Amino acid sequence: MRYAASLSWRACPPILYPPMPRPIKVSIHTAALAHNLDVARRHAPNAKVWAVVKANAYGHGIDNAFPGLRDTDGFGLLDLDEAVRLRELGWAGPILLLEGFFKPEDLAIVDEYGLTTTVHSDEQLRMLEMARLKKPLNVQLKMNSGMNRLGFSPERYRAAWERARAIPGVSQIVLMTHFSDADGPRGIEYQMEAFERGACDVPGERSLANSAATLCHPQTHGAWVRPGIMLYGSSPKGLEVPAAKFDLQPTMTLESELIGIQEVPAGGTVGYGSVFTAETPMRVGTVACGYADGYPRVAPTGTPVLVDGVRTRTLGRVSMDMLSVDLTPVPQARVGSPVTLWGRGLSIDEVAASAGTLGYELMCAVARRVPVHAN
Ligand SMILES: *Cc1c(COP(=O)(O)O)cnc(C)c1O
Repeated sequence: MRYAASLSWRACPPILYPPMPRPIKVSIHTAALAHNLDVARRHAPNAKVWAVVKANAYGHGIDNAFPGLRDTDGFGLLDLDEAVRLRELGWAGPILLLEGFFKPEDLAIVDEYGLTTTVHSDEQLRMLEMARLKKPLNVQLKMNSGMNRLGFSPERYRAAWERARAIPGVSQIVLMTHFSDADGPRGIEYQMEAFERGACDVPGERSLANSAATLCHPQTHGAWVRPGIMLYGSSPKGLEVPAAKFDLQPTMTLESELIGIQEVPAGGTVGYGSVFTAETPMRVGTVACGYADGYPRVAPTGTPVLVDGVRTRTLGRVSMDMLSVDLTPVPQARVGSPVTLWGRGLSIDEVAASAGTLGYELMCAVARRVPVHAN
């Protein structure tokens, strides 16, 4: 609308029509973000919170997530442009770079925007030693306690800490590690044991817990927790402990509409590859949502979906721009009926489980062409 509204027909002879979007949209629920942040605080009442907003706030958009999460103590992310965006939005508090910096020139931005950085390698320590910073920066010194991605081994941790402490440009050093199995049967003990071994005589606050550890392993809380996925209303335990059991609310609803309805006879097939065959005559709805919108192509027949608020299932293969749904339980459905792909009324974790993935991946994959409305 805003394209056309500012133009009078007199001033602009070629008529500009407002863009006609497909009916698909994503809604971001600000109050639910704030609620989920409170849930994290309830579980870790003595810890400060790094609200993790990496990957464009798990696909929600930094701008859309910020209003709901602004009561946090700090934000954790990876990309410098997202850190800069938070400063532009007015966030003056701590921002933690979860992977730290990559090149010496990154440190100019870290310095300029007052970012806290993870330090996990000798290469980063070397860059810090060489840097000329305007003001000292806070670091989170990362130990590899068993996940074997980033960090100093327990044996080398104390030496890394000594080296960091000797750098004039380094101010506070927080002790950090990350869990591989806080959500699963292996648990956190093997890493806690390694962490305690490597950090036993190293002073400083601790920052260990992701969402699963924040919710399920209070002994990990320390001075800082780093919840991510729980803030977005997806359970770190998937369907094993549904999000609602943790009192988490969905923060992203992906909605569209029926754009076509077919009466499929017995023996008729639906979609590419004819992988679904109707056994009896049935009504099949076509939804304006496909894998180019971020809906997982691998979601098989039977993936849950809401049509007009009624739970039903997808049928056949997901196409690029459309998918098909069973209208048997929704006789009142017509072209224009609302469809919820996930979010309010349908847990993203259920859809993810059907597609063999996690809520994390679905949220992050919502495509740029899907309009976003924050409310
Ligand atoms: C992504 C991330 C988190 C948050 O993990 P969730 O499982 O989403 O809670 C915490 N810490 C680090 C280092 C991360 O990369």
